[in-house]
Parts: sequence; structure tokens; C-alpha cells
Amino acid sequence: MTILLLGSGGREHAFAWKMIQSPLCDTLFVAPGNAGTATIANNIDISPTDFDAIKAFVLQEKVEMVVVGPEDPLVKGIYDFFLNDAELKHIPVIGPSKIGAQLEGSKEFAKEFLIKHNIPTAAYDSFTAETVEKGCEFLETLQPPYVLKADGLAAGKGVLIIHDLAEAKEELRNMLVHQKFGDASSKVVIEEFLDGIELSCFVLTDGKNYKILPTAKDYKRIGEGDTGLNTGGMGAVSPVPYVDAVLMEKIETRIVKPTIDGFQKDGIPYKGFVFIGLINVNNEPIVIEYNVRMGDPETEVVIPRLKTDLVELFLAVANEKLDEITLEIDERSATTIMVVSGGYPEDFEKGKVISGLENIQDSIVFHAGTKLENGNVVSNGGRVLTVTSYGNDFEEAIKKSYQNIDKLNFDKMYFRKDIGNDLK
Ligand code: AMP
Repeated sequence: MTILLLGSGGREHAFAWKMIQSPLCDTLFVAPGNAGTATIANNIDISPTDFDAIKAFVLQEKVEMVVVGPEDPLVKGIYDFFLNDAELKHIPVIGPSKIGAQLEGSKEFAKEFLIKHNIPTAAYDSFTAETVEKGCEFLETLQPPYVLKADGLAAGKGVLIIHDLAEAKEELRNMLVHQKFGDASSKVVIEEFLDGIELSCFVLTDGKNYKILPTAKDYKRIGEGDTGLNTGGMGAVSPVPYVDAVLMEKIETRIVKPTIDGFQKDGIPYKGFVFIGLINVNNEPIVIEYNVRMGDPETEVVIPRLKTDLVELFLAVANEKLDEITLEIDERSATTIMVVSGGYPEDFEKGKVISGLENIQDSIVFHAGTKLENGNVVSNGGRVLTVTSYGNDFEEAIKKSYQNIDKLNFDKMYFRKDIGNDLK
């Protein structure tokens, strides 16, 4: 098969790494890709949201399947774009329809879906600029801290957790009236705060059947001890040691199954990944968010643990035959540690030459923000690359990743040295 993968991060490098291992994959294109995908597939200079350019390329190269990495093209409706085009409609797109992608594209849509299908979630209400005073009154009925969520996509920055009531009211006004997050905060969901341990559940579905992928935990903050600003993710571990079979059973029966049944009941076409963000409150899993794609860097630990052929899985998704596949999972732990540009997630410099990649042993380097320049691999983003290792337990895997990171170097390189410490 000729396959086109959309995206340019560590998630896409991990997908590409796995897909080219499949005997079903003859040619893999990545748009736009990075220096890592360039070494194993064919990068093409097309933006994942430029649907007309994607169409022209797909027809020219006779692409037979499109796999979507990030959320933007999904929320913009790439699935429907293919389905509604006479020349493209026979080509499967791995990802949800535009309406399905609203589970991530609109917090209010996600909350309404959760409530409608009786899936446990925090109590909430939503407000617009016209109802901002009602929003302030609603805040008064809640206990601190207050959770304010911009309704739309805000590059992972649209959730504020505030301890002081007056400050929460001020931020609500900033979001609704002064458009703190632009259009994304023209509506705001105010939600009850949930106190517990966060975990993520990854599901692949063909819209009817589903497979639950290995659990993973990511590390969101830039600083050690989970302090400082939020990032795209600084590392990940799979499996999550504190998720046992009892908790997994609750997650499946109360959350995963009703979610997929909800797609059926609501007529939502959904052939792709569902990433469910949960908080475990006294052993009761409660949904805090849906994402309509895999997490990054969780993909870089989940996919390496998947023994099943990923292209075969995607074909089963396209043909609604996921029930015919048995998932095979590597029993070993996998961990990944993200190496970032100094200054990230605030200002940072790009274009730094990365050395030592040839010395990596017994780990996999997935590129995130890199590009090739004059024969060198140079940094091209905040998150630069991530080092994934296997181990008999997560501690062994983490040790390997750190040993290999020590062989890498670029100007102002930074990484967290405490990934996994909280699990020991
Ligand atoms: P979200 O984008 O909805 O996942 O929110 C971003 C982060 O805010 C989550 O990863 C949680 O750490 C936190 N968060 C979101 N909703 C809640 C909630 N209801 N209670 C406590 N923390 C929350």
C-alpha cells in the first residue's frame, strides 16, 4: 500500500517507525514530517490542513490510505472532505469525522455528549459574553479551586485552575469579554474541580468495535517535581503501574463502551483514536476530556509496546472489522524522555546542531522538532527529540533512556531528570 501520514512530531515519527515495519506498507509519505521521518519515509512539504494540496498529492501518487496524527486537520474536517469528494471517497482516512472531532474541538460538545450518554464527568455549566454575570454567580456556588475551560482549541493552554474567587471571575471576563484565547474562549465551560490521580486511556475504534491500547502516563510540566509551566509533555511511561485490572474494568464498562455506543446512537462516524483523559477520584474514574488523536509523547511509549501490525489494525478500522483482530502487547515497560530547547515552553532558539545521534544504543530516538540542514540534524521546535527505551520494569527502561541522552548534545539542551520518580 501507499500511505500518507499527516503531522510532524514525535507521535508521527513513532507511527512511521511502526508502519514501515508492516509488510502491507510499500511506500510511506509524511506531510510535512521531520528529520527523523526523512530517514525512514518520504517527507513532502505539504501542511496537514491544506486539503487541496493533499488531494492533488493523493491523486498524483495514488495514495491508498491517509493516517492523521494531529487534531487540527480532524477538527477542520479532513474525514468529511475525503468522503464528500467523488475522487477521494474510496480512500480511507484514519481519524474521526468533523462532528466526532468536536469532542476535542469543543469542550461544551464533549460535556453534552458525556452527560447524554451517562458517562461520569465533573458537574459543569457553560457561558458566553452575554451570560458572563451568570458565570460569576455560578462560580460563587462552587468550592475552590475553580476550573475554567476555553470551549475551542487553544493549543493546550485553554484550561485555567484558579484558587481565588475574585481572580476566577476576572479570568472568566478576560476569556469571554477580552478574548484571552481569541475565538476559542468565546464560550467557557466552568467545571467542578476533581481531586485525584490523572491517567489516560487510549482507544482505537472503527466506530462500532474498539481496542483498548496500553495505558500511559505523561509528565506535563517543564520543571522537576512537576513544577513550572505546562508543556506538550516532557516524558511518558507505559504501562502505568497503579492502574490495575479492577480500575481498567471500570474504565471500560463505564467510559469506553458507552463512548463507542454513543457514537453509534448519535450517528457519529468515528474511525480512529480516542484519547480519554481521566481523573481517578477514590477509585472512581471520571472523564475530564476527550482528544480525538493519540497523545504525544504517550504514542512514543504506547506504539513501541504494540506487537500487532499497525497497518493491519488501520485496515481493520477502515473496514469496520476491528473485532477480528487480537491485540498483542509487549510485556516490557517502555519509557520516553523528551529533550527540549532551553527556554521552552517560552522563548527558545532553533537551528542548533544536534550531535551524538549515531552513538545511541538500545534506545529509539523519535524526532519531534528537527529538520535536516546542510547534512546536519538541527533543532526546529521546542520539543526536539525523545528517547524511548524498553525495560523489564519502568526503572530499567528509564535508566537506559538517561544513559543514551547523555550521549546527545546541542546548545541549551534541557530535559527533566525525574521522569518516573513519582512511581517508585
Ligand atoms: P484538559 O485540557 O481538559 O485536559 O485540562 C488540562 C488539565 O487541567 C488536565 O490535564 C488536568 O490536570 C486539569 N483539569 C482539567 N479539568 C479538571 C477538573 N475538572 N478537575 C481538576 N483538574 C482538571
